[in-house]
Amino acid sequence: MADAPRTVLISGCSSGIGLELAVQLAHDPKQRYHVVATMRDLGKKGTLEAAAGEALGQTLTVAQLDVCSDESVAQCLSCIQGGEVDVLVNNAGVGLVGPLEGLSLAAMQNVFDTNFFGAVRLVKAVLPGMKRRRQGHIVVVSSVMGLQGVVFNDVYAASKFAMEGFFESLAVQLLQFNIFISLVEPGPVATEFEGKLLEQVSTAEFPGTDPDTLHYFRNLYLPASRELFSSVGQSPEDVAKVIVKVIGSARPPLRRQTNARYTPLTALKAMDPSGSLYVRTSHRLLFRWPRLLNLGLRCLACSCFRTPVWPR
Ligand code: NAD
Repeated sequence: MADAPRTVLISGCSSGIGLELAVQLAHDPKQRYHVVATMRDLGKKGTLEAAAGEALGQTLTVAQLDVCSDESVAQCLSCIQGGEVDVLVNNAGVGLVGPLEGLSLAAMQNVFDTNFFGAVRLVKAVLPGMKRRRQGHIVVVSSVMGLQGVVFNDVYAASKFAMEGFFESLAVQLLQFNIFISLVEPGPVATEFEGKLLEQVSTAEFPGTDPDTLHYFRNLYLPASRELFSSVGQSPEDVAKVIVKVIGSARPPLRRQTNARYTPLTALKAMDPSGSLYVRTSHRLLFRWPRLLNLGLRCLACSCFRTPVWPR
């Protein structure tokens, strides 16, 4: 007899990676999943429903969920049959870029409330059930910025580092309950995420920031960031494929799935655990040799250099 479908709860499914993942899992040829695709604003469910097609109401259900609200999380779980979630995907997230002096603490707190505490809130809600049943899988959409800091992304990277530390710690205890954690660390992905950030920074004035820093941000960082997205940026479909594979495969105690195009940068950290080599190299590439940085990114984007390392 076929196993009952596993209930997969995904946060942030109105766009991007969450939407793609929900649709791919709902169309699993073996129908191994029942997807609860959640979003903060149900007014935005049209694109997901259209992409889900015949899966809607069969292997995919849309539900409201604001990861920043206890009530919303409780309400969402109460609508799931038996309240049991087999796989939780913490995907909802927001970004923040810009010179630190020009960003408000409220904006920074919103990043942590969504990315870090949003994930913690969901885990706290599903964990008792997973522990009782002695099974579960928690997938976390982190970022390569959860492994290494990136200039002008200080607070966003900090929120992803926080997630990495939290889930790595939790993984030890949860192994005792047969619950597994997977940390997925994409590099740049062409979703609304980048568009929203660029829109924010195009109108932001960053009050209190000195002219030199503003110049570095607008004239060095932003062009390099655009180049990065257009050269090595992945599609949300590709990232979703990686996560589908992670959910469907045998589960090691803690699994890190990092975009391997970043191996050269993460290798710098491994080669010099003091961190100096990584900081010095990043500094030189951005501030001294921006043309070399652009050339390097174009080479990485060129099909001659491209190795299909991620997803495998
Ligand atoms: P996206 O903006 O398309 O998706 C983010 C989703 O989170 C949106 O649907 C948004 O509405 C939702 N969201 C935000 N606040 C929420 C809240 N309080 N409650 C519920 N939902 C909320 O961007 P994406 O690229 O698909 O981002 C998905 C995840 O991938 C995020 O965690 C992001 O940090 C991570 N990520 C993105 C990139 C990238 O370059 N796009 C790179 C690495 C990691």
